[in-house]
Amino acid sequence: MRWSGQELQTEQAGTLPGLARLNNLVRSVTTPEFAGITFHEVLAKSALNHVPGQSQMPFGWTINPYRGCSHACSYCFARPTHKYLDLDSGKDFDNEIIVKVNVSEILQKELAKPGWGRHPVALGTNTDPYQRAEGRYRVMPGIIAALANADTPFSILTKGTLLRRDLDLIAEAAERVPVDLAMSIAIYDDDLQQAVEPGTPSTKARLATVSAVRDKGLDCSIFMMPILPFLTDTTAHLDEALRQAKAAGATSVLYTALHLKPGVKDWYYQWLARDHPELMPRYRAMYTTTYAPKDYRKWLAARIKPLIRKHGLERAPEDPATGGVRSAALAQSQPAQNQSAQKHLGLLRTDDGERPRSLIEEELPPELAPTLF
Ligand code: SF4
Repeated sequence: MRWSGQELQTEQAGTLPGLARLNNLVRSVTTPEFAGITFHEVLAKSALNHVPGQSQMPFGWTINPYRGCSHACSYCFARPTHKYLDLDSGKDFDNEIIVKVNVSEILQKELAKPGWGRHPVALGTNTDPYQRAEGRYRVMPGIIAALANADTPFSILTKGTLLRRDLDLIAEAAERVPVDLAMSIAIYDDDLQQAVEPGTPSTKARLATVSAVRDKGLDCSIFMMPILPFLTDTTAHLDEALRQAKAAGATSVLYTALHLKPGVKDWYYQWLARDHPELMPRYRAMYTTTYAPKDYRKWLAARIKPLIRKHGLERAPEDPATGGVRSAALAQSQPAQNQSAQKHLGLLRTDDGERPRSLIEEELPPELAPTLF
């Protein structure tokens, strides 16, 4: 499905001032299906973002089809990015969603440039690519197909159970390029989870998605991020979280303590003051900078590492450049491109001469089809 084929039901007459300055804004729309949310459809000028890296990982590449996120996690570190168009990092971040409706078309052009180095690309490191809007706009299949067709490894980190919709396509892509999947599931107390992450699918539904990924024969990490001090850092909670992660089939886990950078801290503190006022003094004493104090992080590591071992889970490697899963492709000199992948993609004929159906091919525009034969 192409963006121009989308049918939203109501066109909003007035856009917000910052958005109105955009010369690539197509329209701002609301729809009864998404009460309280406005989608601002823009034509992206680029799809691939170059992310400066650190140490042994000099840089990374990311794609963010959406800005803002209706998953509405109160601790979301991406909130300040919404201020760039006079939108606030609180409610506007949750409800005013920028949709790059042409992202897969732009991506195909960028990946076709002779200089593209087929570096691993991370999805879900800023805002969630499988947030609810994706059910409407369906931009991810085109992105996945474009990356696989360009022999470009990729990773996806999400809280969205909508990932299941694309698992056949992702499994096909994984036959051609390294693909790393991770579900973000940090809170295993239903009431707390709904209070802190009110727009997200339940923990149970996300764990079921991990199992669905594993049923397709793909690995799936669980990101226990963030661990919330004094709320989810008890031995009982961590132990139960890891037990459920293992039972769902997670192949590895990654954890980190809550970060609260400016623009996020105020919003999180609003929630904390409302739901757990007794914790405010401890948080204020603890978060004098963005990061939890070193002593706390050491204490947390000493508590969780034996539990990770106890449950037979591995600690997943993190990509220091993007904050996502470290791509398995970084351990390989060249992206996988073997005969079975070619056969799956339709590059080779089957024994009876029939070319098997390719989901990747179906997501690509006709002009790219010749590259598949
Ligand atoms: S799902 Fe991720 S991007 Fe979306 S609000 Fe939560 S933390 Fe932010």
